Amino acid sequence: MAETIANILSIAGSDPSGGAGIQADLKAFAACGTYGMAALTALTAQNTQGVSAVHPVPPAFVTAQVADVFRDIRVDAVKIGMIASAEIAEAVADALAPHGAVPVVLDPVMIAKGGSPLLAAEAVSVLTRRLLPLASVLTPNLPEAASLLGEAEAADRAGMEDQARRLLALGPKAVLLKGGHLPGTESPDVLATAEGVRWLEGVRVPTRNTHGTGCSLSSALAAELGKGRPLAEAVAAAKRFVAGAVRGADALSVGSGHGPLHH
Ligand code: PLP
Repeated sequence: MAETIANILSIAGSDPSGGAGIQADLKAFAACGTYGMAALTALTAQNTQGVSAVHPVPPAFVTAQVADVFRDIRVDAVKIGMIASAEIAEAVADALAPHGAVPVVLDPVMIAKGGSPLLAAEAVSVLTRRLLPLASVLTPNLPEAASLLGEAEAADRAGMEDQARRLLALGPKAVLLKGGHLPGTESPDVLATAEGVRWLEGVRVPTRNTHGTGCSLSSALAAELGKGRPLAEAVAAAKRFVAGAVRGADALSVGSGHGPLHH
């Protein structure tokens, strides 16, 4: 357990509309009572209607940001979000390699809700080979899990359990496979670890304001792990945090597309 306020580092992309990316991460870190830091992997130009452009940061500059933070500051947990390219995935893996004791939450961001790619297609294999083994927890949604495994999306709970177990075999210490894309009113997630699988139930909240849900969940999870909470407790707390933020989303008036959550 950190003796002072936990320091949490996001390695992710920027969303100028404030709903996803490092902007969402920093809000979630603060709302969870931690100190937030952010190393940028890419700028995006986007609003609640979609992404219009992506400008990746040079990989050596990503390395420099992460290295400078670690050189000076105790980092209690890391969250990795959008990494944009294979070269940036390699740079992030190299930069984190000397810090294996720090919990890492890996959100394998691939495609924005509007359909824009946030990860180059050829980067998926690098992400799998270099970043999955560094992850304390991998947090894919159903399309991301399918893409990592190179197969169709799970359509039910049995399929989710099976995919979560096979993602675990690729190297992360735990997999939180999120069932928000399943048909129906339920939104169950499955947590797979070496001890087995357990289900976390959730109910779908009727709102179109879900921009940045995955960013917020992975950031809250990193914050809770950075505070020293055990994994199952941290996952439960992060899910409660995001459920509250989704329920609060309709109080915001931000854009005319998929609006952000209210942390
Ligand atoms: N933009 C950035 C920088 C992100 O990191 C993400 C998701 O992680 C998104 C956009 C997509 O957010 P959403 O699919 O929730 O709209």
